[in-house]
Amino acid sequence: MPEQPLVWILGDQLLRDHPALAVAGLGAQVVLVESAARMSELPYQRKKLVLLLSAMRHYADDLRAQGYDVRYVRAANFTSGLREAAAASGATKLVTMAASEYQTRQLQQSLSVTFGMPVELLPNTQFLVEQHNPVPTAPRKIVMENFYRAMRRHFGVLLESDGSPTGGEWNYDKLNRQPLPKAWSAPAVLHFAPDEITREVIGQIGATAGLGTAEDFDLAVTHADAERAFQHFLDTRLAQFGPYEDAMSSRSRTLYHSLLSPYMNIGLLDPLAMVRAAEACYREGRAPLNSVEGFVRQILGWREFMYWQYWQQMPGLRSANSWNASRPMPQMFWDGQSDMNCIHNVATGVIETGYSHHIERLMVVCNFCLLAGIDPAAVADWFLACYFDAYDWVVLPNVIGMGLNADGGLIGTKPYIASANYINKMSDYCGSCRYNPKQRSGADACPFNFLYWNFLIANEPKLRANPRSGPAVLGLAHLDAEQRAAVQAQTSAFLAALAYYS
Ligand SMILES: Cc1cc2nc3c(=O)[nH]c(=O)nc-3n(C[C@H](O)[C@H](O)[C@H](O)COP(=O)(O)OP(=O)(O)OC[C@H]3O[C@@H](n4cnc5c(N)ncnc54)[C@H](O)[C@@H]3O)c2cc1C
Ligand code: SF4
Repeated sequence: MPEQPLVWILGDQLLRDHPALAVAGLGAQVVLVESAARMSELPYQRKKLVLLLSAMRHYADDLRAQGYDVRYVRAANFTSGLREAAAASGATKLVTMAASEYQTRQLQQSLSVTFGMPVELLPNTQFLVEQHNPVPTAPRKIVMENFYRAMRRHFGVLLESDGSPTGGEWNYDKLNRQPLPKAWSAPAVLHFAPDEITREVIGQIGATAGLGTAEDFDLAVTHADAERAFQHFLDTRLAQFGPYEDAMSSRSRTLYHSLLSPYMNIGLLDPLAMVRAAEACYREGRAPLNSVEGFVRQILGWREFMYWQYWQQMPGLRSANSWNASRPMPQMFWDGQSDMNCIHNVATGVIETGYSHHIERLMVVCNFCLLAGIDPAAVADWFLACYFDAYDWVVLPNVIGMGLNADGGLIGTKPYIASANYINKMSDYCGSCRYNPKQRSGADACPFNFLYWNFLIANEPKLRANPRSGPAVLGLAHLDAEQRAAVQAQTSAFLAALAYYS
């Protein structure tokens, strides 16, 4: 009897050229499973769920139009959905691409036993590091910069014919990281009106438990629209991306950022094509090198590095906690109710939209949580629930590794901690805040300040031992015993009065 393959395509693998389709051939039977268990693991941001389900349904229709025999199954969990589809299809073999997330890949590896049929698990093609691993024999520690340069060399991105980096430098950060100018108006992003499929999903998700509203959903859910969003970014924001990539403002959530991570993470956009298109903008004189290199670094460097780190460190990364932090997530992140203006703005924005850019994730949310001793797993769960681009492979290395430095420093070379001074310099949040960013203790002192100094006091020997964080500790020499005691007392009182999520 000829083999009857059934292709299982995961919701975050909506690739134009999915490798399992090539293996099974045109006309093959395909299944996509909407798992109720997966969708209710956390109180997810509703826009994240609408994006995922609507993109899956559009993708299923697209495959049908191409001639595939597609089953779209709504099931209690992945296993029961696959069982139902396998029985209905008469399949004798399952073909699927390796998941980007650890838990789902474990499930895939157990399916041949569960179903008593062969399972062909194809290599994942969503990540460039799966095609070329620049560190095949991994030392315990590798810094992102070396990883990134190796990726640029291999893929020939922003490289001259003699192998040197375009412009003579690998890194143009010194031209970037600027605060916004005083006279500045926020650039627009593209919005996509929901079609009938999306409206149906909005109705379904609106009726279930979750965070925020789905009513004003306006994201792209197809390859064509995601590509339009990318083109719009290239045409209107890439040129200014570099200088202002670290700036924060209450006047715009996105500034010059691309807002493309949700599409890349579910397969609607191809990272290598994006990197090449950004490079073309530089070559054609449409964007300066510092912006283009900055954007390329995010995708070919940070994104791939994080995915690589995830697979190096799993399954231990989920429970890593090298600063022994144990407090629950503060309630203010779940409801935005805070008199700390930066946290109020970022949390409210995330609850409403599912988005904040990377400096807000790093220097507002994670900075606070590291200084306040919040349990890394609780912080990761908050990110997973709230952000529309959040998946295990990207949240754990970014939050537990980079943001909270809880992996023992394998991802970041030092803990990313800062007092209010940094937020005040890079944002307009402090001007209208009830706290004073320049005060370290006292009734008006910004909590970032006493938390920061308290963290230095509490962890002085450990911080001194790290040459990259040592200089920060030198500032402690200017605090006498009385000032140290004031900082510690105010920290204890603040953390005791904070409401926590339960
Ligand atoms: C604490 C923390 C949590 C994060 N959580 C997520 C997450 O859940 N999902 C997610 O996709 N990204 C995450 N990031 C990375 C980054 O913040 C987002 O990718 C970015 O803000 C998405 O917005 P954008 O598309 O406008 O990005 P841009 O600033 O326009 O950057 C371009 C692209 O680069 C990629 N990128 C840049 N930095 C990273 C990185 N560190 N890791 C992975 N990709 C990167 C993204 O694909 C992004 O779309 C996190 C970063 C930090 C510090
Ligand atoms: S003063 Fe402190 S709490 Fe207020 S916005 Fe600035 S950094 Fe945030």
